[in-house]
Amino acid sequence: MSRAWNFSAGPAAMPEDVLKRAQQELLEWDGARASVMEVSHRGKAFMEMAARVEADLRELLGIPSNYKVLFLQGGATQHFAQVPMNIAADGQRADYIVNGHWGEKAASEAALYASAYVAATSKDDGYRSIPDRAGWDLDPEAAYVHITTNETIHGVEMHDIPDTGGVPLVADMSSDILSHPLDVSKFGLIYAGAQKNIGPSGLVVMIVREDLLQRHPRPLPRIFRYAEYAAADSMLNTPNTWGWYLAGLTFQWLKGQGGLAAMERRNRIKEESLYAAIDGSGGYYRNEVDPSARSRMNVVFNLHDAALEPVFVAEATEAGLLALKGHRALGGIRASIYNAVPIEGVRALCDFMAEFRRTHG
Ligand SMILES: *Cc1c(COP(=O)(O)O)cnc(C)c1O
Repeated sequence: MSRAWNFSAGPAAMPEDVLKRAQQELLEWDGARASVMEVSHRGKAFMEMAARVEADLRELLGIPSNYKVLFLQGGATQHFAQVPMNIAADGQRADYIVNGHWGEKAASEAALYASAYVAATSKDDGYRSIPDRAGWDLDPEAAYVHITTNETIHGVEMHDIPDTGGVPLVADMSSDILSHPLDVSKFGLIYAGAQKNIGPSGLVVMIVREDLLQRHPRPLPRIFRYAEYAAADSMLNTPNTWGWYLAGLTFQWLKGQGGLAAMERRNRIKEESLYAAIDGSGGYYRNEVDPSARSRMNVVFNLHDAALEPVFVAEATEAGLLALKGHRALGGIRASIYNAVPIEGVRALCDFMAEFRRTHG
C-alpha cells in the first residue's frame, strides 16, 4: 500500500514535502536532541521558531504592521463564540452573512453575547449562492460583519471581499486561507482552523487588527481574551507546539512554491479542470452552485443517478482517490482540492470520472 490522492475536507491532505521534513526531524529537532514536541515552548529554540513562523505568514499574506497574528486552539468553532465575547457588547448588533452551514453555526453561537442578526442569507436556494451585496441589511453601528469566505460543505465561495465601511469585517477563512493572495487590510479579523489549508487540527490562526483588541465589552477570564494572547505572543499557556511547528513547515513550503500568487495559479488549473469535467459530462455529473460562487477549494457534485454515488465513492477509493463522499448533511460527492492536493491528483480524478461514466453510463 502507498499514499493515495486525498480529497478529504478536513483534516485534509498536507504537502508531502512537509510530512517528509517532519519525519526527518521527528526524533531530533533543530539540534535540540529531542523532538519539537518534547521541548519547552519558552526555550530559545522554540521561541525563535515561533517568531520565524509568524514572519513567514506575514510575508506570505503581506500582513500590515497594525495587525497581530495569534496562534490559538479550540478549532474555528470555539471562535464562533469567542469572537463575539471579545468584540461585541451585550445587545449590540453583530451582522452575519450566511451562505452555508458554518456561517449558520457562527451566527447561532454569537447569539449568546450579542444581538446576532442574519443580515443576508442564501438559505432559500439551499446555499448555492452568495446573497447579493445590494440586499445586505447592515447596521452601521454593528460590532462587526461576519462572513464565511468559503463554505466547505456547500462548495460556495465569496470571490469578492465586501466593503463594510467603518464596520470591521470578520471572516472565517478556515477552508480558503492561503489559497490566493489576500488584501488583509480589508478585514478587522480573520480566523482559520488549521486542518484544511495550514496543517493539523488543534491549531487556529488568527489575524486581528490592533484596535479590535482594545475592545473590552465584558469581563472575561484571561484565557478567553484575545488581547491577553497578543500581549503574551500567543503563549499565555502551553500552545499547540506540534501544530505551530507544522504550520511553519507549510508556510516555508508555500514560499518555496512561489508564494500565494503561484498557489492561486495552480489552484485555478485544478479547479477549472474539475469543473470542466463536470460541466462537459452532458449532465452525467452536476454542480448546482451559482457559477459566480463556485468554490475553488471544495468542488461538490452529484451523479445523474443518486444510486450510483456510493458506487462512485467505492470505486474511486479502490482506484486510490480518497474521501470523495459528500458531507453527511448534503450527500453527493465532494472533492476538496486544497493547496496540498497537486495538479496530478486532480487529473487522476478527472480521468477516473471519465472512465466511470464510460463504464457505468
Ligand atoms: C471546518 C470548518 C469549521 C470548523 O472547524 P473546527 O476546527 O472543527 O471547529 C468552521 N468553519 C469552516 C469554514 C470550516 O471549513
